[in-house]
Amino acid sequence: MTDGGLRFLMTTYNRLPVAFTHGRGAWLVAEDGTEYLDALAGIAVNGLGHAHPRLIKALAEQAGRLIHVSNIYRIREQEALAERLCALSGMEAVFFANSGSEANEAALKLVRLYGHQRGQPQAQTLVMERAWHGRTLATLAATGSEKARRGFEPLPTGFIRVPYNDIEAIERVAAHDPRVLAVWLEVLQGEGGIRVADREYVRALRRLCDERGWLLMIDEVQSGVGRTGKWFGYQWSEVQPDVITLAKGLGSGVPIGAILARGPAARVFTPGSHGSTFGGGPFACRAALETLAIIEEEGLLANAARQGERIRAGLARALASVPGVVAIRGEGLMIGVELDRPCGELVTMALQARLLINVTQDNVVRLLPPLVIDDNEADEIVARLAPCIARFADAARCAA
Ligand SMILES: *Cc1c(COP(=O)(O)O)cnc(C)c1O
Repeated sequence: MTDGGLRFLMTTYNRLPVAFTHGRGAWLVAEDGTEYLDALAGIAVNGLGHAHPRLIKALAEQAGRLIHVSNIYRIREQEALAERLCALSGMEAVFFANSGSEANEAALKLVRLYGHQRGQPQAQTLVMERAWHGRTLATLAATGSEKARRGFEPLPTGFIRVPYNDIEAIERVAAHDPRVLAVWLEVLQGEGGIRVADREYVRALRRLCDERGWLLMIDEVQSGVGRTGKWFGYQWSEVQPDVITLAKGLGSGVPIGAILARGPAARVFTPGSHGSTFGGGPFACRAALETLAIIEEEGLLANAARQGERIRAGLARALASVPGVVAIRGEGLMIGVELDRPCGELVTMALQARLLINVTQDNVVRLLPPLVIDDNEADEIVARLAPCIARFADAARCAA
């Protein structure tokens, strides 16, 4: 690869030595013409795959008409999207931002304002071990990764960390800390290693929040918009949260984030209390509206559920006799394969097998393929990934 302008970029990423020129569906084509099967979808962003014809058409039409105005005017695309999101989620009011971190930052501001309005100026939010909420200062403080937080102190306060999937840990805090006003979690932890909250745990959280007057807030930035086979991950538990946040898959790559709220939480912000220059612009909202319409009309929720099962079952078969595979888990097309040791080099091995994947928490292979994959592509993901894992396990055993 030529050096290009890489040295002019701040080194926040260790980039793989590949650049893509175009894509179609679940496939990406590199500069040298090599085709890669995309099992990561821009980290859960490209749910419709690449270059979806209907999305392209809508975006071209919108770009030729109106990209940006300002939130000091009414924006029809924004109103239509808010109405649609509320219908799908059971929520009542939406604020649009431009990323997951920004949507989450709004959720944290909402808790604090909610506290002040209720005479609790020291509102605390319960957050989870291994949680990932973003890289702004407040969302970083809420994030569980010490590695991500290190060096960025002083961080905002107002968080109490508890173990995931442990209702008693939360009850213990509830018993002695009257400042708590919210519980915040991902119902499927993404960066945290594809960990799925027990449905009974999520229901118990809802009951506890009802008893205590706390807000149940769910970060659906990764698990939302069809990724798990339902519109939103919390819908597997059949509870209704008070606040959810969305981003990644919502705009199919056009940056957009959203916070959705209901009940008292929907009425916390008032004119002037929060805002965004770009948030909810006509172009981004059109991208999201079209994304939701395509997911619905192409039956992509059912497809995500079905292909997710197919991939998990395929991996379970192919890896049955491979030592060091600890667990294969997930929901829909949010899939993790946990190994018994750090396995970052699998990303490069998969790249050589023309498969795009990711490793999180050092030892969990993460798959987030586009929602549009078909049976053959699902099988192909397994056929390319399983031999890499088997070779990795072999090498690890030989080295031991
Ligand atoms: C990616 C992610 C974020 C951060 O989103 P950005 O758009 O990168 O700011 C927050 N929460 C969860 C669960 C995520 O997966």
